Amino acid sequence: MKPAEETTERIVEGIAVGPGIAIGPAYLYARAGFEVEDRRIASEDMEEEVARFEQAVARSERDFRKIATVAREKLGESSAGIFEAQALMLRDVAFYEAVIQHIRRDRMGADYAAHAVLRRHRRLLEAGESAYFRERANDMLDLEHRVVRHLRRGKILAAVEDGSIVVAENLSAADIILFSQRAILGTVLDHGGATSHVSLMARALGLPAIVGTHGVTEQVAPGDMLALDGLAGRVAIRPSEDTLAQYRERQRRYRRWREAQKKVVSLPSQTQDGRSVRLAANLEFMEELEMVEEYGAEGVGLFRTEVLFLMRQRVSLSEEEQFKAYRRIVEAVSPRPVTFRLLDFGGDKMLPLGHREHNPFLGWRGVRVLLDKPDMLAPQLRAIVRASRFGPLRILLPMVTELREVHAFRGLLASVCDDLSAEGAAYDSDIPVGIMVEVPSVAIRAARFAREVDFFSIGTNDLTQYTLAVDRGNDLVADKYQELDPAVLHLVRDTVEGARAAGIEVSVCGELAARPTATPVLLGLGVDELSASPVYLPEVKRVLRAIRMAEAQTLADRALQAADAAEVASLVEAWLRDRDCDAASMLETF
Ligand code: PEP
Ligand code: MG
Repeated sequence: MKPAEETTERIVEGIAVGPGIAIGPAYLYARAGFEVEDRRIASEDMEEEVARFEQAVARSERDFRKIATVAREKLGESSAGIFEAQALMLRDVAFYEAVIQHIRRDRMGADYAAHAVLRRHRRLLEAGESAYFRERANDMLDLEHRVVRHLRRGKILAAVEDGSIVVAENLSAADIILFSQRAILGTVLDHGGATSHVSLMARALGLPAIVGTHGVTEQVAPGDMLALDGLAGRVAIRPSEDTLAQYRERQRRYRRWREAQKKVVSLPSQTQDGRSVRLAANLEFMEELEMVEEYGAEGVGLFRTEVLFLMRQRVSLSEEEQFKAYRRIVEAVSPRPVTFRLLDFGGDKMLPLGHREHNPFLGWRGVRVLLDKPDMLAPQLRAIVRASRFGPLRILLPMVTELREVHAFRGLLASVCDDLSAEGAAYDSDIPVGIMVEVPSVAIRAARFAREVDFFSIGTNDLTQYTLAVDRGNDLVADKYQELDPAVLHLVRDTVEGARAAGIEVSVCGELAARPTATPVLLGLGVDELSASPVYLPEVKRVLRAIRMAEAQTLADRALQAADAAEVASLVEAWLRDRDCDAASMLETF
């Protein structure tokens, strides 16, 4: 008889990273399945050991090139870049030469030498606080596993049965690409966060996935039935019949919802009384470019350029590399406009300068860094301005708090344009320059700032944290992080009023723009554009199309007077119910 715990259902929560519902048997993948011991060799075996290492490197190189080819076919060029970089790392002197030196000088076995070198690199990276460096450490581990397994002539990837859900402590981005060649249904990982490579890959591959389940590998036995909810971030292990029926129903609803979405995509984003509101896409990856068309976005309202840097595994990209990327984006989205937000490093996003701050969200972040580091700003600005020749684009400054910053930026932009003119480069000489409104000092004086810029984009993610003094990433105070707090809404209203006076447009590009339950309030407050991850746009559009502006304005007035965010939420929910569009909140209740 099986122990009782193996027959009872368990529900484990994690971070939802790949939307969709999957039901199938577990395939338990043990990645860290070997120990590397301190093995020494005799001097007469030394050259043979070097040759074995060379062979393992060549084989690993072939692996990475193959994975890069699959990634390129399935996901596009920038994803392939990660694996090309891993292949290059194998020949990097800091690895290749160092291992050979350990073999020759210290008589280390090749596997131990590779382990020792990579462990040193890994520790350095793991010591950093940023998720970026931890991700790089994970890539190093992948490299080590590959080389060591080839040295031992082991199989790199065990056979996964089609139709299974891969459960593992962690997967590398390479693993998930290879698994995707078999028809796996989804993945559940103990480690990882929303922005880990493996999460991004899962999402781009369309695989339902959850990560950060802490210990799920200990609770799942090979072949156990799993019901995985990549929307709610939950997995049912050995689900009961009732649970299974619920997940199947959710799966049906999700598929229906995806079908229904397709119909909305081609409809105009217009209220009942004919007000057009632009729905734009927030993008972070090249792979998402196709989604602009697929989800009917009218341009890119926010391209977070710092993520491009993180994906390339480098803290700096040359002007030429950036130019190529920006040009590709602009060409793909044209004639619709692309809003490039300049590098927003600092806060919770790694700052490629290896310095630490006690209070990074109130520290050296966004435009503050850019203005202090012309070597970082100038190549980006030149690349963007040069790309303007290939389609309409706008420039957006992150984390502005003072007018002085806008003035300083304008000066730098003018000199970049002068240099490009002197070099004979063609560019749009009238690129709109806007600022993120994500700090109260800007919202409060919106009318003054509006005279100096071409548009506003309200970043409610940061505006909420800076208005309510609640760290957006701190789960101890997560219940206090309320984007619909009337104080935040007052600042949205002030921003819109300031913009109106100067005749400029206001977009909202924080997560609030993705929430159908915020749509009538934001419209009622007068915003001109909502920019969100493309997948949320059809649902927002469905609500938007049910709205009459005068009614939305009355709702917004009541929201401004509400006692708190909870009251705002219940006001909006009742309002949507009265108009039969509360079903539109399906995405949230899913
Ligand atoms: C915001 O703060 O709302 C925003 C869109 O910027 P980010 O989430 O990148 O800080
Ligand atoms: Mg922000």
